Amino acid sequence: MTARPARSAVASIQLNVDAREISRRVLHAQLEIPAAPGPLTLVYPKWIPGEHGPTGPITDLVGIKMSARGQTIPWRRDPVETCVFHLDVPAGANSVEVTLDYLLASDPNGFSSAASSSASLGVVSWNTVLLYPQGSAANAMTYSTRLQLPEGWKYATALPRAGESANGIQFQSVSLETLIDSPVMAGIHFHTFDLSPGSQTPHRLNVVAESAAALEMTAADQGRFSNLVKEANTLFGAHHYRSYDFLLTMSDQVAHFGLEHHESSDDRVPERMLIDENILKGWASLLPHEMVHSWNGKYRRPAGLTTPDYQAPMKTELLWVYEGLTDYLGEVLAARSGLWDVTSYTERLAMSADAIGARWWTPPMRRSCFTRRGRKVPPGGAVRIFIPKVRSSGWKPMSQSGGRPKENGRWTISASGFSAAKTPRRRW
Ligand SMILES: [Zn+2]
Repeated sequence: MTARPARSAVASIQLNVDAREISRRVLHAQLEIPAAPGPLTLVYPKWIPGEHGPTGPITDLVGIKMSARGQTIPWRRDPVETCVFHLDVPAGANSVEVTLDYLLASDPNGFSSAASSSASLGVVSWNTVLLYPQGSAANAMTYSTRLQLPEGWKYATALPRAGESANGIQFQSVSLETLIDSPVMAGIHFHTFDLSPGSQTPHRLNVVAESAAALEMTAADQGRFSNLVKEANTLFGAHHYRSYDFLLTMSDQVAHFGLEHHESSDDRVPERMLIDENILKGWASLLPHEMVHSWNGKYRRPAGLTTPDYQAPMKTELLWVYEGLTDYLGEVLAARSGLWDVTSYTERLAMSADAIGARWWTPPMRRSCFTRRGRKVPPGGAVRIFIPKVRSSGWKPMSQSGGRPKENGRWTISASGFSAAKTPRRRW
């Protein structure tokens, strides 16, 4: 047995981000990092949760300056690790000031480091605009963060707000883990749909779009997204968050993807998703998928992906559970909520089977499926899915809040109502 090296707790770090030029794809940041005289190593987040790889956009970090007590401090890039910076804190100093700029990409291909802003909206991912002391655990550091947005822009985030003034939005002090897990979405054309009116646990669908017209969601579709909240609650049987905020960015000028967080999700889709039936159908499983991730991925996470900071490599041997189970449950919730009808769901199942080479379906126009044993499932008939129980030894609880979701084994998806009744344990 090997003891884990002690990690020192660090006093609160001040982070000020000026996003008033986000439309020009520039973010300015200033950090005040408590430090003692002597050698200090600062690092830029490299392994980004939910992206499962070393995708921290270090090549877009520019203009780094470090100082203490008003004096410039020379810094050196580590000769091996590009995300690591070395400096010497001068005698008499008790903190280091760092200023830096982050240049947002224009490339729409990729995840959070891809295109994230336009003339009328933008998303701030905190991992792109900060450094932290090497060797400090993400849940042992506290960040006190202030954000300035362009004039007239509205915003949404799961990050608790402490106050607002002419100097910007001041957020409550949180751990680095919570900060990086809580991006901010902002824009001119903004609307928040309450998906659980009257509930003690708020669920909000926050939307920014390139136009006010794109926000005109029908009452029927709003009802389907509210159903998603109800069906997720039924499925998991517990809350493990204080509130949940979908951060839905609708633009053809940003990257399109979803990135899960514990109390929110960063969802980026085509501009007309909420007003074009076909686009909505194509993206219907995105929000359910990311909401499932709040449980499978955040509240519960494979041990290999539960790293102490953002420099430790993630081990992805259980990624198939993290993503595979989430993909399945997300599509189940898309169907149960009504975002997909039965035909759409069974067609998606058939397409997935075809994609992995399984010969158990016929073309979608016939709207029927064959099981692995050759048994035909008629149009509108039941499709039984088996999910193996997850061994608890491979999972660690995350630290943010309480609750105890169920780890069920089986679900039945039927034409008559996508019920949650258990089925006999059997494979096809
Ligand atoms: Zn996923």
